[in-house]
Amino acid sequence: MYCVKCGKEIGDNSEFCPYCGAENPDAKKQKDQAADYYKQMYERENRPENYHHPQTKSEGMVIPLLALIFGLLGGWLGLLFGIIGLAKYKEKSNKIMCIVGIAAWAIWLVIYTYMRNFG
Ligand SMILES: [Zn+2]
Repeated sequence: MYCVKCGKEIGDNSEFCPYCGAENPDAKKQKDQAADYYKQMYERENRPENYHHPQTKSEGMVIPLLALIFGLLGGWLGLLFGIIGLAKYKEKSNKIMCIVGIAAWAIWLVIYTYMRNFG
């Protein structure tokens, strides 16, 4: 690209002409556009709805929690909710709750079977 004032060849990204010191409007515009673009990207990434909202998180905990409760109570629903929860949720904490629910149900089943056979 060429300087708008003196006509000498200058770098495409030069904000000012190195020969006459004139401002290079194209480079400035490019730089501003890039700045705007990054600003927009930054704002988009930092929007509040992109954060994990506490309420959404607690709603997501319902099925794993049910798995845990029913698992501890010794119901088949513990297994059911545990499997649903494992399939549905990606969060590690939810998966752990589902696994604990299923494990609690499995322990209950072993005890129940034992009691029925020997009790
Ligand atoms: Zn110049």
